[in-house]
Amino acid sequence: MNRVLLLFESKRNSQLLVEWLSDQAQVVLVEGEQSLDEPFDLCIVDGRSLDRLQTLLQKRKESEQPVFLPILCVTPRQSLCSTTSDLAACVDEVIGSPVEKAELLMRVRVLLHTRQLSLQLNQRNQELTAFTYAVTHDLRSPLQVITSMAELLLEDQGNRLDDQGRLDLYQILLSADQMHELIAAFLSFSRLGREAIQIQKASLQPIVTACINSLEREIRARNATIRVEGELPVVWADPVLLKSVLINLLSNSLKYVASDVDPYIAISASHDNDRCCLRIQDNGVGIAIEDQSRIFSPFVRLKTIERPGIGLGLAIVRKSVELMSGRLGVEATLGVGSTFWIELKSPTPDE
Ligand code: ADP
Repeated sequence: MNRVLLLFESKRNSQLLVEWLSDQAQVVLVEGEQSLDEPFDLCIVDGRSLDRLQTLLQKRKESEQPVFLPILCVTPRQSLCSTTSDLAACVDEVIGSPVEKAELLMRVRVLLHTRQLSLQLNQRNQELTAFTYAVTHDLRSPLQVITSMAELLLEDQGNRLDDQGRLDLYQILLSADQMHELIAAFLSFSRLGREAIQIQKASLQPIVTACINSLEREIRARNATIRVEGELPVVWADPVLLKSVLINLLSNSLKYVASDVDPYIAISASHDNDRCCLRIQDNGVGIAIEDQSRIFSPFVRLKTIERPGIGLGLAIVRKSVELMSGRLGVEATLGVGSTFWIELKSPTPDE
């Protein structure tokens, strides 16, 4: 049964609510503050208690995330507007007093139903994550055996095989490697979660330099040029995550270029109020308009040019940018090149 917490200054009002709600929930009247730590599915609070307990309630709500813990505030109708704007961060619904029984019961029902849906969704997500780990783990073991056996065969019996036999073995090893890579990418995609993210002020300049340095081998091999245009600002981001995002985008810009063209990549940034837009522009094969939004979905690969890959890079990039409360997109012309952009929050002067 759902548990509803009542935080009311007036005993008479809380008694009335107990009567109204006891049919559809277990109602708990809270006297002290420690009861906020106990499990509950909905908290109904009056304006005065909310003033007193807002910080505690906010913390309690955050501790349940990503599950939705609803808070319903009952406050005199005349103070409804000011209450709503002041307390929007903590409260999910405001209802004016004197309260209509039918209205209250309907709002309570909706909030409790949303809470249950959110709990179910969270449960499904956890099951799905556990399933992903189990499947990928179970796939890895036999794959490791295939790789080891093929290597052993090549080492011990390689001389007795003809050219075609050796080629076939190499093909087995290559496919097993691709499968290892696919499993690793799949795992890092499913592992990306809010818990691991540490948003802080991050200077783009050293992050971009580190990305370019770690791609040095590819840059040299492709005779590529990467130019940073102008100063790069400070943004709110997780530096580790941002680095992996940029490496992903830069690797693609080096990869999806016609073989007879030397890659040229320009990195620049622009500022608008508290947002920063970072752009990575390349002279690659470009992307048709109809493909520009779908390439951010998992396993979408275009046929514009044949290159190795598994189609998870941009999905990971999108998830990472969204985890940093950013946005991203691409503008591109087939045969001319693409510009991937990332918009992130940048610190205001007083931050
Ligand atoms: P992968 O590179 O492993 O295929 P991604 O998710 O990184 O996976 O990219 C998805 C697809 O988007 C690529 O297969 C390619 O067709 C296209 N793409 C990505 N980046 C670029 C780029 N800079 N220029 C042209 N096409 C690109």
